[in-house]
Amino acid sequence: MENKYRFKFILIIILAILNLLGLAYLHFNPFQPAPKPQESEAPVESVPAESPVPEETEPAESTQPVEAVVIPSVMQWVHDRAADRPQPEPEPEPEPEPSAPAVWYDSWADDSYQRLISRQRPIDASYEPADLVKTSAYSDYPEYLRQDAAWYLEEMFKAAEADGVKLLLIDGYRSYTEQRSLYNTYVQRYSSSTIATMDCWPGASEHQLGLAVDLGDRLRSCNLRICFDSTTVSSWLREHAWEYGWIERYPYGKTDITGIAYSPWHYRFVGTDLAKELHDSGLTMEEYFAE
Ligand SMILES: [Zn+2]
Repeated sequence: MENKYRFKFILIIILAILNLLGLAYLHFNPFQPAPKPQESEAPVESVPAESPVPEETEPAESTQPVEAVVIPSVMQWVHDRAADRPQPEPEPEPEPEPSAPAVWYDSWADDSYQRLISRQRPIDASYEPADLVKTSAYSDYPEYLRQDAAWYLEEMFKAAEADGVKLLLIDGYRSYTEQRSLYNTYVQRYSSSTIATMDCWPGASEHQLGLAVDLGDRLRSCNLRICFDSTTVSSWLREHAWEYGWIERYPYGKTDITGIAYSPWHYRFVGTDLAKELHDSGLTMEEYFAE
């Protein structure tokens, strides 16, 4: 190449580079002042409240140089692109701990502590609890109960004793045969209307479950009579028996529901959870387990 053409070629290259630099300066001038904030973004405090004549603000469009518009546009574009990018997966919400299942009581199984027994829901004549034990709770005769019922009854007797209350265990487990003998005795003694609401029917007595007791006062006043409910022993039982899993099973005013006459001496072991629920709600087992 001749020197003349080589010079022209270099000159064209230099001019092109200068042109590009000029364009770059126009678009990315780092010394360009920041764009004036919009009227609405201006902090309220910037205008003193006592200022009598606030300065007139000039329209934003008139003072904004072209370059000032370009940079926010580029920033907006960058921002939009960033928005298009796949966002990182948000941390998955931890699955909630499965709440404890509501306590479910089996009111039908013969060996359930919550077995609901009545003349409508009798128990088989052959049923005998497998875990009967002789209880050490104070009684005149040897009395038997299912193991847990016996343990909780003994704890209750100890607590009552500590409070100066002298409980007496009158009756605990009764086999079907014993229950039938009792029923035959009652039939001789009471009218049929009285018998109808007595807890004496073979196959329908909680005593056959090994989960029921008749309680009394060691002073022997009013035992197995309605006036038992005015003794301090009865008051103590109404306040504390539920803490040991025992409930007053045939309360006053509930004969239409339970089918059994008011029996303030008859207590039933249902376990501490259900005893608390029944105590707090005031419901009978029939009401609690109503369909
Ligand atoms: Zn009883």
